[in-house]
Amino acid sequence: MESYRKFAPKKTIAMIAHDHKKNDLIDWAYYNRDILNLHNLIATGTTGKMLEEKLNRDVTKLLSGPLGGDQEIGSLVANAKIDVIIFFWDPMEAQPHDSDVKALLRLGIVWNIPMACDRASADFMITSPLLNQEYNCHIPNYESYFKRKIAP
Ligand code: PGA
Repeated sequence: MESYRKFAPKKTIAMIAHDHKKNDLIDWAYYNRDILNLHNLIATGTTGKMLEEKLNRDVTKLLSGPLGGDQEIGSLVANAKIDVIIFFWDPMEAQPHDSDVKALLRLGIVWNIPMACDRASADFMITSPLLNQEYNCHIPNYESYFKRKIAP
């Protein structure tokens, strides 16, 4: 059976940027502030603080990414509390929390959450009419996973 999760017109958008990508994300968010103001923002600690200062608005701040923030966002994704992820990760530098980054990107796919990981993708996402309207997000069917045989 197909199942869907209804995204409200006002989305909850998670934002994360690695250190060398933070200015890029803040710049992008400022340019798109009017559209972002229509939505809830939630972010890892440092990214969230920078967003709050630049956009002069409330951003729900979690722990800093390397201290558990990415995992907190992953948990919210798995519990259907986040609709969209904008994650400017750094392809040129290993992170102390690479395993957390990978885990978050994996959960985004597990739950079919829209994710933009670079500025061009984020541009396409923010200009999508779907961002500001109700959307039925298809939830992948994991029935065969639940019914899998576990060896005794
Ligand atoms: P930060 O975390 O916003 O607290 O710097 C981002 C990250 O995951 O590196």
